[in-house]
Amino acid sequence: MKRKINTINELLVDHFGIPPRSKKVPDPVDLLIATILSQNTNDKNSYRAFNNLKEKYKNWEDVAHLNRSSIEKLIKVAGLGKQKSAAIKNLLSRLLKSDGKISLNHIKKLNDEEILDELTSYNGIGIKTASCVLLFSLDRNVCPVDTHVHRTLNRIGLVNTSSPEKTYYSLNGNLPTKAAHQFHTNLIRLGREICKAQKTGCSICPLQKKCTCADKNLEKVTGSKESRFMLLDSIK
Ligand code: SF4
Repeated sequence: MKRKINTINELLVDHFGIPPRSKKVPDPVDLLIATILSQNTNDKNSYRAFNNLKEKYKNWEDVAHLNRSSIEKLIKVAGLGKQKSAAIKNLLSRLLKSDGKISLNHIKKLNDEEILDELTSYNGIGIKTASCVLLFSLDRNVCPVDTHVHRTLNRIGLVNTSSPEKTYYSLNGNLPTKAAHQFHTNLIRLGREICKAQKTGCSICPLQKKCTCADKNLEKVTGSKESRFMLLDSIK
């Protein structure tokens, strides 16, 4: 599998380039909250919701003292307000209660599995959200699997799985060294711009020759203008 991932990664880099990364590694709490906000919405709306919290309150301790419905109002633009505000309130309150401050710096010393175990013990935080902390805040060689990554890798034929979580466990452990960020980000671009959920643009796909999808759409299509803004590379 490693060799196949390497080939796909190289073709994606030839097509989309090496994705830029934020020079400053984001704090794990910031990154976790941004990722919670990003569930089932687009990156621009999640970024607005994140900034509504960051700009109004000087630190996460202040947000932890708000009641859940006040958080819900501030993050309304990202949708699923009730669910996301409950996950944020629970995370911040638990951290504050156990350590007297809001920090996840202790996880930097843990291995990947230990970090996933700890972060997924919080309500509303699953493997995808926790693995984003590994990649974006801790620079571990781990590829989070969202709906785009899951869909495209199944269509390509790299995996044959029924859920993003199963894709995550098939993929990780097989990634070439330091490939995770570019592989993850370029698969998201592929899924947003070419290999979309409803309609594929196989005629312009850089993976057309490697992809084993039996139902390729070879009609002439133009590239999508889907936003290239990437939330988790914009958290500072
Ligand atoms: S060839 Fe078509 S189905 Fe395969 S990855 Fe590209 S767009 Fe998706």
